[in-house]
Formats: sequence, structure tokens, C-alpha cells
Amino acid sequence: MNWQWHCPTRIIFGLKAVTNNADALGLGKRAFIVCGQGGSGQRNGALNDVIQVLTAAHIDWYVYDKVQSNPKVEDMRGAASLAREEQADFVIGIGGGSPLDAAKAIAVLACNSLSDEELFNARFGKALPLAAVPTTAGTGSEVTQYSILTYPAINSKKSIASDLLFPRVALLDPAYTRSLSWEVTVDTAVDAFSHVFESYLTVRHSPMSDALAGEAMFLSGGLLRELALKKGMPDDKMRCQLLYVSLLAGTVISQTGTSIPHALGYSFTYFKGTPHGRANGYVMPALARFLHDKGEPRVIQALEMAGFQGLQDFSKVMSDLTGPAPVLSEEEKRVFLMICSQARNLSNSLVKPSFEELQAILEQVVEPGF
Ligand code: NAP
Ligand code: FE
Repeated sequence: MNWQWHCPTRIIFGLKAVTNNADALGLGKRAFIVCGQGGSGQRNGALNDVIQVLTAAHIDWYVYDKVQSNPKVEDMRGAASLAREEQADFVIGIGGGSPLDAAKAIAVLACNSLSDEELFNARFGKALPLAAVPTTAGTGSEVTQYSILTYPAINSKKSIASDLLFPRVALLDPAYTRSLSWEVTVDTAVDAFSHVFESYLTVRHSPMSDALAGEAMFLSGGLLRELALKKGMPDDKMRCQLLYVSLLAGTVISQTGTSIPHALGYSFTYFKGTPHGRANGYVMPALARFLHDKGEPRVIQALEMAGFQGLQDFSKVMSDLTGPAPVLSEEEKRVFLMICSQARNLSNSLVKPSFEELQAILEQVVEPGF
């Protein structure tokens, strides 16, 4: 049993995490602040808090607030030249996974001249220091070394993975997530669950990832069931738990990576505009069925830890949360399968599906008959 663990991000969790820990943002003299284009960072208070802390510490700042969901690699190049022009010496990402992943790519591109190939293969030796302030509770990007970008050249999303992308500090204040819509709350909660569920079913799982994934699945399973009952917007206690689960799950995937739901889910996002977490939610029950039929005992173990009464109960809760997957034409299915079969994280599954098995998984996703 050989394994390693490397997650160097300083984690600060709790109400007023930013304003009570001003020192944590002292990573340089001029900050390039990266936010989403919808203005949520202004509305939820995170941007104000960060600016207040920087101003008090006499650190200059520039706000780049143009990041779209599922950011595209070419847009990151434009933002990075702006960061260079602004002579930024560190980056602060504020927002959901999209601005956080954008901040990571900008931190690399601002100080390296790289082709797409060099970027995605992490052939760089430096990046600007980075702080992350998550405002959704799902991706865990604040503690991972991944930046996942939309890459039209391959009609999909692709990740950059480098230890240089670990944020120096993650500041998690659940109050920022109060303003999340119902849809984003649910989609991101499903993403967090998918991280730990998938990690438990990867070849790279370790005793330590299992321990953290087990705790996160236990908490997350209960939260998902509560959300599925649609009793109303989460209260502050639940917001806090959702953010904690997301953090735990991010820490876990930083060590194990993800697998088939992410690999296949990217096509739903790229071609159908499905939010990231929801796309994973479509695929998880079919992955569970596939691995269970292969005799993999860890599927039932995972479902039990999360409090699900077997495969059918899991499928029902997932479909209550995500709704049905979009209908796909035969041509779309062919393209999805072709792209997914080339994804790096496919071989991370405990059992790597053959092309025909992947086809059967996709059929079950779009027509769940169980
Ligand atoms: P997102 O695309 O970052 O944000 C979704 C929506 O939520 C946006 O409209 C955003 O508005 C809004 N929003 C964010 N915070 C809000 C708040 N506090 N109140 C109200 N609205 C808010 O969604 P996400 O699911 O967090 O991130 C998805 C991305 O993360 C995908 O690209 C996925 O591939 C990636 N991801 C990365 C990792 C990793 O390890 N790096 C892991 C999983 C997923 P704005 O337009 O204002 O931002
Ligand atoms: Fe994810």
C-alpha cells in the first residue's frame, strides 16, 4: 500500500474569513482580482471584503470581472496579457469554479509564454501566487491543482494539472454562498458529491482519501437527500455544511482525480450547456451500476456511507435533483463517446470500460431504465 498526499494550500474557513485574516492576502504588491461576469462577487460581499483588506494593507488591485462559466482557454490569454500590463504580482480568484480556474490559468499565462500544448501538459516552471475565495459550494477548486478550461480544439474541456496551481491560501466564508440560486446550489452540491463518490471508485484511492471521502459522502448524502425534498432554500447551517463538504471533496480529488462522470459530463456541458455538477449527476448512477455489475464491492460501500438504500434509491435521488438528461441524437452519442474514450480520467476508474461498455453507460444515462 503506497501512497502520497500533497495539498499545500493554507485553509481558512468560517464567517468573516477574509476580513479577519487580512495577512493571508499579503501575497504581493499588486493584485489581479478575477471574478465572474455576472457580478455575483459584488452582490455576495466577497469582492468588497477583499478590496477592503487590500486597500487597508496598501496593496494595489485591478478587478477583471469578465469570466464566463466554463472559461475558454483563449479568453485566459487575453486576461493574462492584461494582468501583465497591470504588472500584477499575484492573483485572487473570487467566485465559483469558473473564476477560480480562470485565476489559475491567468496566474500561469501571465508569467509564461506557452502554446496550448505546453499549457495543458503543464510545461511551465512558474506561476504567480494565488489566493482563492470560493462563492459556490461544489468544485473545491480552492484546494486543487487543476484548472479546467473549455478547449474548442478538442470540442471539450481539458484540465491543466500542476502543483504550481495550488492556491497559497483558500478563504472560505459560507456567508458568500447565501445568495446562490436554488439551481446553482443543487448543481454544485451534486458536483461535490461526485468528487468523493468518484474518488472512492478510482484506482488512485488511498486509505487517507477513503477516510475523507467517507466523511464527505456521509455528510453530503444527507444534504442531497434534504435538497431533493425541496423544502426551501438552505439555512446558514446547511450552507456551512455544503461548503465544508465541497472543501473536503476538493482536497480528495486533488489526490485521486476524477473518473467517468467527469469525463462524460464534459460533453453534456460543451454541447448541451448543462451545468458541470448536473452533468456529473446524470452519469453517476450509470457508473455505479456498471461497476456493481463488474462485481466491485466499493459501490455499495460508498452508497451505504452516503445513506442511500442501494442503486435504485441513489438513481431516484439523483434524478430528483438533476432532472432527466437531454435527449441525444445518434450522431451526438457517437461524438460524446469518441471524445470521452480519449479522456485522461477514464483510466482512473476502478474498472476501465471498453468502448461498448462506455456506450452502454451512455445509453443508461440518456434512458435510465432502472
Ligand atoms: P460557476 O460557473 O463558477 O458559477 C455558476 C453561476 O453561479 C454563475 O452564474 C455565477 O455568477 C453564479 N454564482 C457564483 N457564486 C455566486 C453567489 N455566491 N451567489 C449567486 N450567484 C453566484 O459554477 P461552478 O459550478 O462553481 O464551477 C464550474 C466550473 O468549475 C466548471 O468549469 C468546472 O469544470 C470547474 N471545476 C473545477 C474543479 C477544479 O478542481 N478546478 C473541480 C470541479 C469543477 P458569476 O457570473 O457572477 O460568476
Ligand atoms: Fe467537478
